[in-house]
Amino acid sequence: MTFRTLDDAGSLAGKTALVRVDFNVPMEGGKVTDDTRLRVALPTIEKLRQAGAKVALLAHFDRPKGQVVPSMSLKPLVQPLSELLGAPVRFAEDCVGGPAHAAIADLDAGGVVLLENVRFHAAEEANDAEFATSLAELADLYVNDAFSAAHRAHASTEGVAHHLPAYAGESMRRELEALDAALGNPKTPVIGIVGGAKVSTKLDLLKNLVGKLDRLAIGGGMANTFLFAQGVDIGGSLAERDMADTAREIMNEAKVKGCELLLPVDFVVATEVKPGAQSRPVTAGDSLSADDKILDAGPATVARLVEAITASKTLIWNGPLGVFEVQPFDAATVAVAQHAAALAKAGTLIAVGGGGDTVSALNHAGVVDDMTFVSTAGGAFLEWMEGKALPGVEALRA
Ligand code: AMP
Repeated sequence: MTFRTLDDAGSLAGKTALVRVDFNVPMEGGKVTDDTRLRVALPTIEKLRQAGAKVALLAHFDRPKGQVVPSMSLKPLVQPLSELLGAPVRFAEDCVGGPAHAAIADLDAGGVVLLENVRFHAAEEANDAEFATSLAELADLYVNDAFSAAHRAHASTEGVAHHLPAYAGESMRRELEALDAALGNPKTPVIGIVGGAKVSTKLDLLKNLVGKLDRLAIGGGMANTFLFAQGVDIGGSLAERDMADTAREIMNEAKVKGCELLLPVDFVVATEVKPGAQSRPVTAGDSLSADDKILDAGPATVARLVEAITASKTLIWNGPLGVFEVQPFDAATVAVAQHAAALAKAGTLIAVGGGGDTVSALNHAGVVDDMTFVSTAGGAFLEWMEGKALPGVEALRA
């Protein structure tokens, strides 16, 4: 996939860049409790500053729904951001109009201003053309560094890109390159792991993946629905029994498309979901009682996944293999993640994961740094896995 990056932007000296970032950071009592998202934006900001551009940062925070909500102001980010940058950051009380223009005019080359929450304007989420024009009037170029917001066609993520030369920022570029390596243009064979709670929330994703992957391993609660559809006894496990037909359709589709489906061949079963609960291993096909819940994949399934991953060149992963938040039902997720990360670290596997709880599961397994790429983009990552075009990314295509 080709998209414009800052390397295509020519000389930036003296120009103003309007940079869409994801600063939707966790905050408590007006203090930032995790500055990861601020750090993610630094390479783009530094690159623009070094090129002599003025940098106007545009972001949303929380859901003010088109109203000015003082508790959702971006102002508390000014200090932590300027500490990370080692340079002063100005603040503009509005992201368009007089305050924004004045703050930008006051900047020296390489100066940075943070504009107030773009969602204080209802026109943002409506992708209003006039509002997009007002944003565009602030700058000479637009840089989108917020992949996590790229699935939304809002004025700051999509509309404005039609009024200015538009480029992917450094973090957007890294994300798009990783996603392309995992699913767009991967080294084959490619294996997917899709786990998590429910089939119903991941239908589009499963349908897209069976058409693209060589192998797809299904785990977690959603595997129970597939096993149930095959007549395997799942006792009182979480499953969407009314989706058995859908599960059979997906299994059929996989067969037609030549994607090998890997379902669990054994499980860890317990009657209650609590830390250290009494559990036992069970082989698929054994009979279970109505109190039994399948809470994790068993050792034979893990061994099969380890073998399948070793035989692959690329892995794309969304969703845990069990109830990883409660030990010992994290065992399969942790073992498989550690194997994948070790191969990625050794350079024999491209391993990309993300979406929802996957980041906390991979964090829990301690593998985030060794994986090729872990996306924290949530909804945008899932929509991309579903094969959907992301409006904010489409607007950056070369
Ligand atoms: P998702 O957000 O769809 O990726 O689902 C993640 C959730 O699925 C986690 O909170 C897991 O605890 C849960 N989960 C995984 N496996 C199972 C299972 N066998 N039974 C119940 N919940 C599960």
